[in-house]
Amino acid sequence: MKLDAKIPSGHIEQKWSNYKFNAKLVNPNNRKKYEVLIIGSGLAGASAAASLGEQGYNVKLFTIPDSPRRAHSIAAQGGINAAKNYQYDGDSVYRLFYDTLKGGDYRAREANVYRLAQVSNEIIDHCVATGVPFARDYGGTLDNRSFGGAQVSRTFYARGQTGQQLLLGAYAQMMRQAAQGTVKIYPRREMLDIVVKNGKARGITVRNLVTGELESYSGHAVLLCTGGYANVFYLSTNAANCNVSAAWAAYKKGAGFSNLCFTQIHPTCIPRSGEHQSKLTLMSESLRNDGRVWVPKTKGAVKNPNDIPEDERDYYLERIYPAFGNLVPRDIASRAAKKMIDEGRGVGPTGQAVYLDFRDAIKKQGADKIKEKYGNLFDMYYQITDENGYQAPMRIYPAPHYAMGGLWVDYDLMTSIPGLFALGEANFSDHGANRLGASALMQGLADGFFVISSTLPSYFANAKFEEAKIEDTEFRDSSEEVRKKTEKILSSKGSKTPTEFHRELGKILWERCGMSRSEESLKKALKEIPRLREEFWQNLLINKDKGFNQTLEKALKVADFLEFGELLVKDALERKESCGSHFREESKTPEGEAKRDDENFSHVSVWEYKGEKKEAELHKEKLEFEYLKPTVRSYK
Ligand SMILES: Cc1cc2nc3c(=O)[nH]c(=O)nc-3n(C[C@H](O)[C@H](O)[C@H](O)COP(=O)(O)OP(=O)(O)OC[C@H]3O[C@@H](n4cnc5c(N)ncnc54)[C@H](O)[C@@H]3O)c2cc1C
Repeated sequence: MKLDAKIPSGHIEQKWSNYKFNAKLVNPNNRKKYEVLIIGSGLAGASAAASLGEQGYNVKLFTIPDSPRRAHSIAAQGGINAAKNYQYDGDSVYRLFYDTLKGGDYRAREANVYRLAQVSNEIIDHCVATGVPFARDYGGTLDNRSFGGAQVSRTFYARGQTGQQLLLGAYAQMMRQAAQGTVKIYPRREMLDIVVKNGKARGITVRNLVTGELESYSGHAVLLCTGGYANVFYLSTNAANCNVSAAWAAYKKGAGFSNLCFTQIHPTCIPRSGEHQSKLTLMSESLRNDGRVWVPKTKGAVKNPNDIPEDERDYYLERIYPAFGNLVPRDIASRAAKKMIDEGRGVGPTGQAVYLDFRDAIKKQGADKIKEKYGNLFDMYYQITDENGYQAPMRIYPAPHYAMGGLWVDYDLMTSIPGLFALGEANFSDHGANRLGASALMQGLADGFFVISSTLPSYFANAKFEEAKIEDTEFRDSSEEVRKKTEKILSSKGSKTPTEFHRELGKILWERCGMSRSEESLKKALKEIPRLREEFWQNLLINKDKGFNQTLEKALKVADFLEFGELLVKDALERKESCGSHFREESKTPEGEAKRDDENFSHVSVWEYKGEKKEAELHKEKLEFEYLKPTVRSYK
């Protein structure tokens, strides 16, 4: 596998404009000849469809739910970053670049991160112009709040529903194109394979989820905007349908998979209450602007939290990290919570939680102000826990949330298969070993509105295309492979549901490769996962319907998670350093913080599929730091 990141030349501030100026363009009259297949309609997919449709390309968009509006992006609560400096607090493109690269523990590419920071301002202008109702202050200016890992306020928001409002904006622009005939939408379709012809991605095989029929589509490029894989842990904050299958299919067709072990554990989730749960709920990081995190100073204090006096409370984030306090990045906050709980100072019925307390903020600002900022989050907390966050501290606990790892892409967002691109959470590109809050929405929209709209035309202008028809052998072979796999699942005669297998896999990964990992725990997982996978193929209980069949949909996703989970653990085992979200017990400082090893691990890991019974091959893309020299990450 040849890895060329294709970073443009020039000073970091000029790279993106140089790229755009030097890129070949496609004449407007020729654009409709190019067919673009987009998979997924979250922020990345919807914005890509809108921007490419607007240019006149012929776009087809495929998505699992009945409406593209129901993508997981709708769940995003807290906000989207941009370096506008509306608060006059010293923000700049360079500072956003610095915070993001440092936040990711120097495991991302400088040029990509700088471009993201540059484009961030265009996103806000574009979204405001298209009607996204961002919060405004009394004078009518767009309001900002703070998120973890930054000492400036640069997060734009729409109450606790930023993702929903942004997605409605991108969706509206996409539907405008649908009305003009440049975008055609195929809902209730699950992409199960990529068709590669003469070394280029030229099509897809999808399952029509209503009829069960397999369908083939050909095009000149395929854009995977299929989101992240945190659901491999079973319990996560992601929507239940989030999966790795599309990216995994791409991997098996030759696309490199990168940094799988960089999975973000978010510190502020509602704690799990038992075995019955199918997902976890996030309480947005924005709550850490005003909420204070604490545990009792003594072990086993079972008092009502309101009865615990001030001098018996340990505001541990403010104590250990005085410079950033409650707004330390997620990896740091999650590990600190775990440490408190491991010391026996956890709270609530299970002892697996810490407090997030608004008492002081309510005293200072009034309950109405807090309600105005976070009302829907307090309502959500009440509906799930039956507890009133205005009257007593909320209980929170870390949970799997976001995948920094994903398909390897170059500066153009192209994977190692020519013509196959990955956008949004599906790629590995910008967040290194830890994503800062409010940067995923920024990246999804940067990729979809601003990056792919320049890089895809350049690919088209430079590539030569032979004819690719769905009658071709490559398309028929792909359908046949998918049909065989589906039938193998449908012929199972076991007694365990796909959900039960998924839950067991999640447990293995959480315990052995969760908030902390060691060589010993990872090696155990590498024995347990193949055993579970073998059992899956022997003992699966499945509904046999060939048409509409949600157990089959689930089983196909779990089958892929069972393979992917093993590679994730291998990636974690291979990376012997600690960095960002990846905490190896063997690599920590005397204070228990993550200890990076830049000499040996300053690289992106890229795994290449070698065949069913063969070991994947590890490649390394070396990371070069010309503008920001990696330093020890400190938030103290
Ligand atoms: C609870 C929660 C809150 C968050 N809050 C914030 C926040 O405040 N700020 C922030 O920056 N980030 C936030 N994030 C992260 C952010 O929401 C996501 O990273 C981002 O929305 C991902 O967008 P996407 O377009 O890449 O993917 P998604 O929105 O996940 O979209 C994926 C799309 O692909 C489709 N799809 C998947 N597989 C297939 C397939 N095989 N075939 C066909 N279609 C397929 C899905 O149906 C969907 O349409 C939050 C995440 C969670 C879980």
